[in-house]
Amino acid sequence: MKPAKIALIGGDGIGPEVVREGRLLLELVREERNLPLELWELDLGADRYLRDGTTFPAEVRVAIQRECAAVLLGALGDPRVPGMEHARDILFGMRQGYDLFANVRPCRALSDRLVPLKGRGARDVDFVVFRENTEGIYVGMGGQFKRGTPDEVAINEDINTRKGVERIIRTAFEFAKKHGHSVVHMADKSNAMRHAHELWLRVFDQISREYAPDIRGKHVYVDALCLYLIQDPSQFRVIVTNNLFGDIITDLGAALQGGLGMASSANVHGFDAGRVAMFEPVHGSAPDLAGKGAANPFACLLTVGMMLAHLGYPEEEQVIEAAVARAIDERQCTPDVGGTLGTQAAAAWVREEVRQALRALHSTPGRERLAANALPLVPPARAGNLALGPAPSSPSPTSLQGTQRKALRPFPFPGIHCWHCNPP
Ligand code: ATP
Repeated sequence: MKPAKIALIGGDGIGPEVVREGRLLLELVREERNLPLELWELDLGADRYLRDGTTFPAEVRVAIQRECAAVLLGALGDPRVPGMEHARDILFGMRQGYDLFANVRPCRALSDRLVPLKGRGARDVDFVVFRENTEGIYVGMGGQFKRGTPDEVAINEDINTRKGVERIIRTAFEFAKKHGHSVVHMADKSNAMRHAHELWLRVFDQISREYAPDIRGKHVYVDALCLYLIQDPSQFRVIVTNNLFGDIITDLGAALQGGLGMASSANVHGFDAGRVAMFEPVHGSAPDLAGKGAANPFACLLTVGMMLAHLGYPEEEQVIEAAVARAIDERQCTPDVGGTLGTQAAAAWVREEVRQALRALHSTPGRERLAANALPLVPPARAGNLALGPAPSSPSPTSLQGTQRKALRPFPFPGIHCWHCNPP
C-alpha cells in the first residue's frame, strides 16, 4: 500500500515548536499501529524568506498537490516581515491553490474547568463551525485611493459566489447528516449586508428544504450568535458562516473551550479524502511566546488527530483526544490551561498516554475497528470516550426571549427557521 505522504511546515513563532510535537505524535502512532504514513519536512516560513526570499515555490505547491494526502502547518506571522508576504503566499497558496473551501473548526471543551462560563461545563460546548475559506472579504480585492491625504479612500471587496456559498452550506449539512445532528445554524448579517447575505439566505433556504425534515436550517444574525454562544452554547452543534465571521466566532469558540492553545482546525475540499487537505491549529504564531518553550502543544496534537481521522484512522483521533483530556484533568499541561509544564513535557505526557491506550486497545480481542471515513474530521459525542465529569448542574437554558429583536417584515424564506422572528 502506498503510504500517505504528509508535508510538515512549522512556519513562524511557536509554529515550529508545536509542529515538532505533532510530528513526534505522528511518528509514535505510525510506529504503534504500523500505519503507512510518510513525513516530509519543509523549510518554509519567515526565516527562509529572510534568508533567500523564498515564500512558496510553484514546484513545492505542485508536489504537495500531486504527492501529499495532507499538510500539517504550524503558524505564520513574524514581526520581521510586517507585510506578511511569505504568510500570504503559503497560506493562500494552499487554501486557494488547492481550493480548500471548508475551514472546519471544532469547538469542544475537554474539561469542565476549561469552560469560562458560570454554571456551564464541557457538555455545553460541543459545536463545529464551517467557515467559508476561499471567498469573502479575505480575498484581498480592493485598494486605496489618495492614500495619506485627508480625502483617502480604502476599500476591501466582499466576494460571495453562488458556487462558493452553496458548497460550504452543503458541506455543513452533509456533516450534520453524517453525525446525526438535526439542526444547522447559518450566521450572517443579512439585515445590513443586503446583497451578499441575501444570497446566503436564499441558498440556505434551498438547501434546508433538501435536507428537511431530518435536518432543519436555522438562521441567526452573527451579532446575536455571539450573544447566544455566551448565554447557552449547548444550543449549537453545527454552524456555517462566511470567512470573516467564521474567523471571529471561532476565536470566541476557542475561549469557550479553554483558549487558543486548545483549538484545532482542518482546511478541506469538502469531505473529499482523495485531495490534499491542510490541518493547522487555530492559534497564530504568538511571537510573545516563541522560543520560551511555553506554548500549549495540545491544539496541534488535536489537529494531528483530525488529520488522522481524515486519513481513515478515526479511532486514533479518539485516543489522542482522550489523552489530551486526561492531561488537562491531571494538570499535565502548560500554564495557559492551568498547568506548570513546558511545551515538550506536556506533549510527552500525552504521547505516553497515547502509547499505553493504543497498546491496551489493540490487545483487547474482538474489539471492532471503526470503519474508515465513518467519522470524518470530528468524532461523535465525546462523553463515552473521554473521562469527563458529570453533567454540570447548570441552570435551565437561558431564556432568549428577552433578547430577541422583532422582525420588521415577514421572513421570506419558508425553508428556514428564523430565530429572530420565532424565538425558541
Ligand atoms: P493570527 O492573527 O495569526 O491568528 P493572533 O494575533 O490572533 O494570530 P495568536 O498568535 O494566535 O494571535 O495568539 C494570541 C495570544 O494567544 C498569544 O499572544 C498568546 O498569548 C496566546 N496563545 C496563542 N496560542 C497559544 C498557545 N498555543 N499556547 C499558549 N498561548 C497561546
